[in-house]
Amino acid sequence: MARLKCLSPRLSVVDTRIARPAPKTADPFYLSQPWRSLMTRLVEQRGRCCQSCGREGVRVFGDHIRELKDGGAPLDPSNIQLLCGSCHTAKTAKTRAARTAARYG
Ligand SMILES: [Zn+2]
Repeated sequence: MARLKCLSPRLSVVDTRIARPAPKTADPFYLSQPWRSLMTRLVEQRGRCCQSCGREGVRVFGDHIRELKDGGAPLDPSNIQLLCGSCHTAKTAKTRAARTAARYG
């Protein structure tokens, strides 16, 4: 049986964006050995528990209470809290909004 061949589209998709978003890349700091071993240690000490909402047994993310962008200490355990995914996302968004407001407010 003859196979039907699809025609290729005659029009290509035009990217009309004026500014292209920067590619999302992880900060190399969060891939570094000192950060990873500190995180392993903190999870062992504090447990896999969100320090904001108290959920247990979830994946936790190391969050800088005072962010690196704001001059926070990168490897000081007292500047790091363990947060679940939703608390971490919420905190990051809140901090970003505050930083934007401070810049344009
Ligand atoms: Zn949480």
